[in-house]
Amino acid sequence: MQHWRHAPHALYVHVPFCPSKCHYCDFFSIAQAHPPIDAYVDAVLEEAVHTTTECTPEAINTVFVGGGTPTVLSAGQLSKLFQGLARVFCLTRAAEWTVEANPGTLDIDKLFSMREAGVNRLSIGVQTFRDDLLRALGRVHDRADVVRALELVHEVGFPDVSIDLMYGLPHQTLTDVQESVREALALGVTHISVYGLKVEQGTAFYAWQQQGALHRPEEEEEASMFAWICDYVAAHGYKQYEVSNFARAGHRSKHNTVYWRNESYYGIGAGAHGYVRGVRHENIKNVQSYIRAPHRARNSCTDVRIVEAMEEMMMLRLRLLDEGVPFVAFQEQFGVSLVDVFGHVLERLVQKGWIDITAEQITLTNAGLWMGNEVFGAFLGEARYAVHT
Ligand code: SF4
Repeated sequence: MQHWRHAPHALYVHVPFCPSKCHYCDFFSIAQAHPPIDAYVDAVLEEAVHTTTECTPEAINTVFVGGGTPTVLSAGQLSKLFQGLARVFCLTRAAEWTVEANPGTLDIDKLFSMREAGVNRLSIGVQTFRDDLLRALGRVHDRADVVRALELVHEVGFPDVSIDLMYGLPHQTLTDVQESVREALALGVTHISVYGLKVEQGTAFYAWQQQGALHRPEEEEEASMFAWICDYVAAHGYKQYEVSNFARAGHRSKHNTVYWRNESYYGIGAGAHGYVRGVRHENIKNVQSYIRAPHRARNSCTDVRIVEAMEEMMMLRLRLLDEGVPFVAFQEQFGVSLVDVFGHVLERLVQKGWIDITAEQITLTNAGLWMGNEVFGAFLGEARYAVHT
């Protein structure tokens, strides 16, 4: 039991550098003229060795290099980082290896060096195809960069290409969203992630919102944008397999599915999160300190209590629309029945029409999809489970 305490089969690596800071961004990323990238790559590889000494890895099935903007690294720096990671971790032959890319920072040399190192999936941050909206977001790329980048990506030949799009942007209309989605599909991508804008504290958008200077679409209009996206993308062969993610058959994100299934993963790099043997950790959000002592990167470690792990499982796995929470997965992970622990919550959610229950699993209904936060929040503090010591 408790396989959540086994060594991870997934690896996340954080690269916290960006050409400039987007106005909505609250990720750990820094924009400076001459970032210490070479020293950072050395530090990441040192932390990788240290991590595997602490918890010997089994075969790694998925790698995700995110940020920040990993593609601000030169072709040589990307090669060094990826070849170094492949030496430290034992990647399976079929491993999914994703790199987040900004269309304004891609060139043919970087793409070849990623492909040669084993990268087989790109996640490209497009957000919208309208140049004025991109400028308003503070993005460094424009529509022409996206089209050019996708041509290069297809030329080099990546089997999986995902695009991120956003809706609910200031001054964005339903027509803008429709045009962007149509353009994305026309570029032959295998996967689309769609996110509604969230205005987070500490961002430029937050300050403008406080001043009344951020003009966002009304809630109803945002909802109709999302509804249109779900219908249109599904009608064009992309299955909505997670609340915000759509994929052609065989092209779901395996790495993100690790998160949604609440499975463990190594997290390496300044600001990275990891979940190893039942302990969640966050690395320091300071690049210089990280470079000086990558083996002391862990800023905070939290031993996840079993009831928290149960609640997390419900909240995360319900995001997987067709898979949901299989009863057997809950029983295998925790050694108790899901119904014994959360039966009273399930009853309430069924009455409201927000979840479906079959003999095998629990899934969100279409109505539940629109009430996601209420459904996920319903499990918090509700686990009926006594810990025996
Ligand atoms: S490119 Fe991504 S990580 Fe970098 S500032 Fe923009 S939103 Fe943040």
